[in-house]
Amino acid sequence: MQINTSVKLYLFLKNKLFSMRFLILIILVGCFSSFSISQKDKKPPKLVIGIVIDQMCYEYLYRYKAKFSDSGFVKLMNEGTNCRNTQYNYVPTYTGPGHASIYTGTTPANHGIIANQWYIKHEGKSLNCVGDSKAKTVGSESENGKCSPHNLFSNTITDQLKLTYKEAKVISVSLKDRSAILPGGHLSDGSYWFDKSTGDFITSDFYKATLPKWVMDFNQVNYPEKTMEKQWETLYPLASYTESDKDNSPYEVVFPGKKTPTFPYDLDLIPKNKQFNYFTYTPYANTFLTDFALQSIRSEQMGMDLTTDFLCISYSSTDILGHAFGPYSVEIEDMYLRLDKEVARLIQTLESTVGKDDFILFLTADHAVVPVPQYLTDKNLPGGYLNLGFNIEALNSELKEVFGAPLIQSYLNNNIYLDDKTMSLLAIDKLDVVRLIQKKIQSWEGVKAVYNSSDLQSLDLKSEWAEMVQQGYVFERSGDLIFILHPGYLTKDKDVQGVGTSHGSAFNYDTHVPLLWYGKGIPRQEIFRRINITDIAATLTYFLNVQRPNATTGEPILEVLD
Ligand code: ZN
Ligand code: ZN
Ligand code: ZN
Repeated sequence: MQINTSVKLYLFLKNKLFSMRFLILIILVGCFSSFSISQKDKKPPKLVIGIVIDQMCYEYLYRYKAKFSDSGFVKLMNEGTNCRNTQYNYVPTYTGPGHASIYTGTTPANHGIIANQWYIKHEGKSLNCVGDSKAKTVGSESENGKCSPHNLFSNTITDQLKLTYKEAKVISVSLKDRSAILPGGHLSDGSYWFDKSTGDFITSDFYKATLPKWVMDFNQVNYPEKTMEKQWETLYPLASYTESDKDNSPYEVVFPGKKTPTFPYDLDLIPKNKQFNYFTYTPYANTFLTDFALQSIRSEQMGMDLTTDFLCISYSSTDILGHAFGPYSVEIEDMYLRLDKEVARLIQTLESTVGKDDFILFLTADHAVVPVPQYLTDKNLPGGYLNLGFNIEALNSELKEVFGAPLIQSYLNNNIYLDDKTMSLLAIDKLDVVRLIQKKIQSWEGVKAVYNSSDLQSLDLKSEWAEMVQQGYVFERSGDLIFILHPGYLTKDKDVQGVGTSHGSAFNYDTHVPLLWYGKGIPRQEIFRRINITDIAATLTYFLNVQRPNATTGEPILEVLD
């Protein structure tokens, strides 16, 4: 046994030594022969395309792989770089923070987008992360365009490109305001989102005074209205959707006009005043966005000259449908099988218009999602619900008893905002209030930890989870206390528990997302080491030959840069 092992070890080392020498030789030859090519190849691409798929879980790439075409997701996986361990490195994992972190290369603690909305104590109301009371809607009469990136503290990679190269063009498109605005940054040449009240793409006067003609023409087609006269049927026979749970599932939302959450969906059953809202639940909204993105390439001449342009596309329907049906639904599977065709269409068009070797593309998600907690508990897996509204009410009554006033002014995204005015009026020591609330919240079912603002401002937090909360904390926007739940838990009022799901946590079901790179000079490879979501922007700086965006904390993915 002993001898056998020694012989094996000797052979192994000998072999290793040989292969080491061989490897060095290859590297040396490789260095000299490829030197001139790689130097010449340092020319930046003509176009960069960032695709963000709202709520896409990492595992969808594999669960649906056998049914995907060869020219969509699978092409990116097989012919590009697949970063298989890409993670969010802060909480909360929501859409606004996700998009801001991808494009600024840093966490909410630095870019300031701590959630989709946060509470403003002195105004007594919550604010949309891209809401801007000074901005006016361009393209409709509604309020849905009163938006801009003015809450974003730092630059995006798209800003940095515009700052460095005056000729560079940045266009950003999505159904959601925040998903169009945050990627496009402050200097965007056009950021467009969907107005659910009119069915049109709109923008705000932060960007321009009128819609470009091509956007107006696109709106004239009335695609959403026409779509809502049709039926949504599965792409393949229903029985073949074996990667998902049964269609008639108790965990799914039932659409207006339907008795069960099942195919086919007759979209004309949706009341007319809700048609554009429900349009965003359908896979056809992804087709609509692809059409719009492709039209922007043609009309804005994206990637047609030597200065790099940047197109940001963010698909939102995956999240809207995902909240209502959950990750194991036939509805979500069908949406991804169809989205695969949209990705294929994008790649084909880019290759035929911009040119196969003239663009790079990355594809990722702004967060993933937890399975419906009821689905988990029905399978005896950990999870559950925290009835937050009920608990806050009880807590406020107790505060009134102890201190003479209900001191919780508001709560949002597991942040508790205290009533500073009343506390100072009644000369109440805030620390006493914080201590009592902290103790109380710790006893609620499903709560893992509670942090107060002085914890989060201290430098030496001991746990990984606390650090993630800290990376999502901004003094003037976050609450006085922030709590996190155990895995598999969501905050939900009693009457809506059991159906639908959400995201926002620090756990892997929310943080683990796909990251695929494809195009000019991107090697075919799989990377298994951990990549942070903030590394994307840092990597892009080396394709674009620009400074890092001002607050970037991520590091370049060297393997992608070859
Ligand atoms: Zn999202
Ligand atoms: Zn269903
Ligand atoms: Zn969502």
